[in-house]
Amino acid sequence: MKNHKNIENIEKYLRETPPLMGGVDWEISRACNYNCSYCLTKHRRKKEKNSPSSTPIFIDKFAKNLSGNWLFYFNSGEPFLLPDLPKITDELIKMGHHIELVTNFSASLEKIFEFCEVANRGLRRFWASLHLEHADLDEFFKKAILVRRLIGSRLSVASVARRGEVSKLAKIAMVFQNQRIPFSMQLERENYHNNKSARTALDPFVKYSKREFLIIKRFGRTYFLNNKRFLKFKGKLCWAGSKYFVVDANGDAWRCHQARNQDSLGNLLKGTFKLNTVPDICRYEYCACVNPINLGMVVI
Ligand code: SF4
Ligand code: SF4
Repeated sequence: MKNHKNIENIEKYLRETPPLMGGVDWEISRACNYNCSYCLTKHRRKKEKNSPSSTPIFIDKFAKNLSGNWLFYFNSGEPFLLPDLPKITDELIKMGHHIELVTNFSASLEKIFEFCEVANRGLRRFWASLHLEHADLDEFFKKAILVRRLIGSRLSVASVARRGEVSKLAKIAMVFQNQRIPFSMQLERENYHNNKSARTALDPFVKYSKREFLIIKRFGRTYFLNNKRFLKFKGKLCWAGSKYFVVDANGDAWRCHQARNQDSLGNLLKGTFKLNTVPDICRYEYCACVNPINLGMVVI
C-alpha cells in the first residue's frame, strides 16, 4: 500500500515538473548544396530556393516567447549556407541558450572553426552528417579529425544506413570510432512524399534484412531503447508543445515532428505562436522524435 502511494507521488511529481531544459528544433535554413536521394525535406526546398531573411525577427521572437535555458537544434537544409550563422549563434548563447547543430560538413574548415569558437561552451553537440552520395570520404575524415581536436567529444558523425549498403557503412564507422569519433547510423525513412501510403504506415522506416538490422543496432541511437525500431508513446503524457517545439523557416510551429501539419502551435513570425503550459497526451502512432526523448519530455 505504501509503495503504491509512493509511485502515485512520483507520477504526480513528473506530471507537474517540466524538464529542466526546453528544446527547439529550428529549421534554420531550407537551402542545401546537396540533393540526397533520401532527403525528406527536398519537397520544401523545391518551393523555396533560398532561406527567408527573417532570422533577426526569429531571434527577437525567441527572446519574447522563451523563458529559461533552451537547447536549439539547428537542422534541415544546410545551416552553414546562412551567412549570419555565427551571429545567430552568438545572440542565442548570450541569451543563455545552448546549440546543437546538424550539418553535411561541406563548409570550409575556416567557417566551421569560426562557428565552434563563437558557440564555445554553449555548443552541446555538433553532428557531422556523412552523405556518401556527395561527400568525399577522405576529405570528410580529415576534417573530422581536425574539428575533434577543437571541440572534443562533442563531435559526432552520423549517416543514413541505406538498405543494401549497411556492411560497407559499418567498415567506415569503425574507422571513425578507432579515432574516438562517435559514429551512429540512422534508419532510412520511407519517403512519404514519393509513397503516400508511408505517411500513415505504422512503421516509418525502410525494411532491412535481419543481418543489416543487427549491424545498425550496434551503431544505433534512441530508436533502439527496448530493442525496437521506433518508440510508441501514444496515450502517454509528453511535454512536447510546452517545453519543446518544432519551428520551420516560415515560422510555423508544431509540438513535435510527428505533429507536423496537425497540432499547430501557431506562427512565431506572425505573432500567433503559443506554447502550452502543461504536458499533453501523445496522439501519434509512433515517435521518432529523438530530441524530445533525449530531453526527457515523455512523462510515463
Ligand atoms: S544534406 Fe541533408 S538536407 Fe541536404 S539534401 Fe542531404 S539529407 Fe537533405
Ligand atoms: S510523438 Fe514523441 S515527441 Fe511527439 S508527442 Fe508523442 S511522445 Fe511526444
